Order: sequence, then structure tokens, then C-alpha cells
Amino acid sequence: MNPLNSVTGLLRAAERSLRGFESARLDGELLLLELLDTGREWLYAHGEHEVAEATARDFFALVSRRLDGIPVAYLTGRREFWSLELLVSRHTLIPRPETEAVVEAALERLRDRRSARVLDLGTGSGAIALALARERPDWRIVASDISAEALGIAQRNVDHIGVRNVELAQSDWFAALANRRFDLIVCNPPYVDTRDRALTEGEIRFEPRLALDGGHGGLQAINAVAGAAPRHLVSSGILVLEHGADQGDAVRRLFGHCGFTAVETLRDSAGLDRVSCGRWE
Ligand code: GLN
Repeated sequence: MNPLNSVTGLLRAAERSLRGFESARLDGELLLLELLDTGREWLYAHGEHEVAEATARDFFALVSRRLDGIPVAYLTGRREFWSLELLVSRHTLIPRPETEAVVEAALERLRDRRSARVLDLGTGSGAIALALARERPDWRIVASDISAEALGIAQRNVDHIGVRNVELAQSDWFAALANRRFDLIVCNPPYVDTRDRALTEGEIRFEPRLALDGGHGGLQAINAVAGAAPRHLVSSGILVLEHGADQGDAVRRLFGHCGFTAVETLRDSAGLDRVSCGRWE
């Protein structure tokens, strides 16, 4: 008997070790669940349950990797987004709650459009494409990425979530989509300023630089995507783009220069400017 190996004992110990992390308690729970193959409710109801010695060792090994700063999603290999359980790897950005604002904006702007053709540019794990596919089985969605490894993860997500309306394509932005036009283009591009120390010092240093680094000023990918999008939108097609909380003004101006109308910026669940939309005439 080793009461320190009880569910409660392990979670307390993890919370203590991880006290520098904002989500110490939750992180511990997610890591333990990974080893116990059960649900969170079970943990709460079985605080006295003692886990095997080997499981306790594995648990502390995970906690120690978390202490190094590795995000929980990379330790467990999954992350929830739009109530879907998505597989993630070091080759994909970890889906963020703020990106759900992209999904909401797209659903809202195309509410009445049946059988829309949609492009999710730079899909990563497939998060936005899969959320839209789930909500709108009548839409046909192309999910593209430059990274073959990311597309491998996106394919596994398409298979395990079981949607039939997502087609994957390897493409450097629009390069491999030359003659295709869409009713909607959604994109969460890299938009962190290349000089931002978070890229090398923050927890995001574990995520693919390709998915985060938006060059000097952070707007290079956004410029490229907004500039080329008109050639890939049908008349009245919609562009929905995620960006940084302080980039709303710049992105609205850019959309205007590129010829988009009905341009507006929407806030994420934290109340920050996060998503801009425009219509191509
Ligand atoms: N929101 C992310 C972050 O600041 C950035 C995501 C992105 O560049 N697409 O960590």
C-alpha cells in the first residue's frame, strides 16, 4: 500500500510540482487520464484508488516533461477543439480556443449557402476544416497544408472523426490550387512577429515555427493570403482570416486594399480582436 500513489495523492503531488503553471491542476489530471484510460468524472469519484507503481512512475515522468515546458497536448497527443477530439503532433500547431471564432464567423457568414465549396488554407491538424465539416455535411471542404507530416495527422483526424466531406491537398498556400475557386476561404496563418521572444522563450517554442512565424511585423503570411485569395474566390465569396489581437486595424486596411467589401473584425471568447472577414465582389 502506498497512499502517495492514490489518485488524490498523485494529483496533489503534480499540482505542487507544476505550481508555476497556470493550469497546474488540469495539466495533472490530463496527464493521469492519459495513463488510466478513463474519464475525468472517474478521477473525481475515485480519489482513493491506488494506481500501480509503474503507472505512478510513468505519471511523474510525464509531469517532469511538462515541467520542461512541453505542452500537455504534445504529451498526450490530443487536444479538444469544437468538441472534437483531435490528434496533434509536433508537426501541427495545437488548436486554440480562440480559433473557434474562425469557425463561428464562417458558419455565420455562409449560413444560407447550401453545398458551399470551402478551402481551409494551412489546416495543420485539420481543426477548422473538421469543425466546419461536422457542422455542415453539405459543404465540400479542401484542407491544404505545405507540410506532409501535418497532412498525415489531418488524415488520421478525418478518419477517426469520420467525416466524408474533407479532401486533403499538399500545397504551399495556393500553389497547388491554381485553378480552383471557393465560396469560402478560411485560414489561421502564422502571424507572430518574428522578433517576438515568445517564439524562442514561450511555450510556443515547442510548436512548428512554420505555423507561427509571420515574419517582420507578423503580417507577411496574412499579406500573401489576402492578396492571392481573390483569384480563388467566386463572386460574393468570403475570406475569414485569424490574426493577432493587435492586427485588426492593419488587416482591415489590407482587406480594403485587396478589394474586399463588408470588412469586419470579430472578437474571440477572450474579447480580443481575432478574426477579420471580407466579401469578394
Ligand atoms: N495564437 C497563436 C499564439 O499567439 C498564434 C497562432 C498563429 O500564429 N496562427 O500563440
